[in-house]
Amino acid sequence: MNEQSQRVAVVTGAARGIGAGVAARLARDGMAVAVLDLDEAACQGVVDAITAENPQARALAVGCDVTDPDQVEAAVARVSDELGPPVVLVNNAGIIRDNMLFKMGVDDWDAVMNVHLRGAFLMSKACQAYMTKAGFGRIVNLSSTSALGNRGQANYSAAKAGMQGFTKTLAIELGKFGVTANAIAPGFIETEMTQATAARVGVAWDDFRKAAAAQIPVGRGGTPDDIAATASFFCREEAGFVSGQVIYVAGGPRA
Ligand code: NAP
Repeated sequence: MNEQSQRVAVVTGAARGIGAGVAARLARDGMAVAVLDLDEAACQGVVDAITAENPQARALAVGCDVTDPDQVEAAVARVSDELGPPVVLVNNAGIIRDNMLFKMGVDDWDAVMNVHLRGAFLMSKACQAYMTKAGFGRIVNLSSTSALGNRGQANYSAAKAGMQGFTKTLAIELGKFGVTANAIAPGFIETEMTQATAARVGVAWDDFRKAAAAQIPVGRGGTPDDIAATASFFCREEAGFVSGQVIYVAGGPRA
């Protein structure tokens, strides 16, 4: 694929964890990749790793808060100027503010809704303009097994269930423009997010991950690469008839 025809992907929350894994995988798949996160300097490490692996790869570090409409508009315009029109979008940025309902503050509710739902809405709205113009697009949204309900996560589970409804509506509205929208619902993936959960409940990380793995039918925790492989599938040309779907990537059928 030459530079003119190379597809451009934007991955949010890509400075680390699942987002970094997805960005690296889409670069390996031949896409130019915008590595977008709150801190542009933190994104540069992922960009450097991508270009170290393949000096021909094109990657760009972009600092942006996905909850801010002006920052999103500016970031997506910059990606278009510097890499090309973004026709692949992975809405991965996320936070947790876990607490039991009776202790959960309004700020914790709003922060989680804003990053996951408002962020995915703003990013999708900005990128769909390029996708519909190109007659091709791929949107992948990160949901979670927590969408099925999880103690201490009233805010997060509501946001992740919301991501599924959002995905299905994008699939219906954008399908006629060659744009698909799908969701990945990971189970337990070993990242800083799950390390933070272990710290919050006061369990040593190694014990926490072993206990999680014991509950998972395939007998291990997931990795960012497990999620990246599924994102890669959804973003392929040949996946154009797969839209509005949710794949649970959890090492088994249940959370
Ligand atoms: P992570 O390690 O915490 O990474 C999330 C990234 O998103 C961080 O770099 C974070 O930046 C960034 N971010 C937060 N708020 C943002 C904002 N407003 N604008 C731009 N970027 C922002 O999490 P992860 O485990 O890789 O999870 C990635 C996604 O998968 C999330 O949507 C998460 O909910 C979902 N997920 C994860 C798991 C799991 O087990 N790990 C399971 C199911 C679903 P800062 O560090 O600067 O805050």
